Amino acid sequence: ARKGKTPEEVVKKYLQKVKSPPEEDCTICMEPLGGPSGYKGPGVGPVSRAESVGRLAQCGHQYHFQCLVAMYNNGNKDGSLQCPTCKTIYGVKTGNQPAGKMEYHVIPHSLPGHPDCKTIRIIYNIPPGIQGPEHPNPGKPFTARGFPRHCYLPDSEKGRRVLRLLLVAWDRRLIFSVGTSSTTGESDTVIWNEVHHKTEFGSNLTGHGFPDPGHLDNVLEELRAQGITEDDGLM
Ligand code: NAD
Ligand code: ZN
Ligand code: ZN
Repeated sequence: ARKGKTPEEVVKKYLQKVKSPPEEDCTICMEPLGGPSGYKGPGVGPVSRAESVGRLAQCGHQYHFQCLVAMYNNGNKDGSLQCPTCKTIYGVKTGNQPAGKMEYHVIPHSLPGHPDCKTIRIIYNIPPGIQGPEHPNPGKPFTARGFPRHCYLPDSEKGRRVLRLLLVAWDRRLIFSVGTSSTTGESDTVIWNEVHHKTEFGSNLTGHGFPDPGHLDNVLEELRAQGITEDDGLM
């Protein structure tokens, strides 16, 4: 699924060479950039001194090459890399959302705070299953509580823009994750990822309802943090 690139090749693609490392510590392993990587894990061989430190091409942050490879190997190995300091994303970030369905339709009622438009209802459905290698406990079952989950957006120009980006986020498996629910404390269960949704229609008992004037801008910001920008919604 990742075009046969090794982790080393993926990481190298996003790096520029560093001739003389600065007198700073690598913030992944906390060891000086001038010395060897503090990461000692399986499959870490010696690297020549010339390529032991790399600078991420866009943001300029520097790390031990081996530390970046180790970080990549700890993720879902989708060909993308995220700078641990400034969160700049290299490549296309994807998540570990389990298989399921996303549907939406317009309902002819207005949300509190959006009296002039109808409402988009999104319905997410994810069944329970078995965790894959990209999940915290591979091979172990995960639960899925409260599905189908219904979510609401105003059917305004901006609301429809957010919907388009949420569809991209769904395809990249970034809407849900598997982990421990901060609401219930249950582990190995499907949880919301870092993109907030409104799950109440006419009330706001949970704080996940309307009115909330900043909501759409917050969601756009959260989507941007996942690497999904307005350009992605143009397709
Ligand atoms: P979580 O509690 O780990 O929270 C992750 C993020 O989702 C947080 O940012 C949180 O603010 C947000 N969030 C929490 N509750 C939300 C809600 N009701 N609507 C919108 N966003 C919410 O994530 P989680 O465990 O996926 O979320 C808890 C929600 O899951 C519950 O409110 C409920 O809707 C659903 N649930 C239902 C049952 C059930 O048996 N019906 C059981 C467990 C959870
Ligand atoms: Zn390091
Ligand atoms: Zn950075």
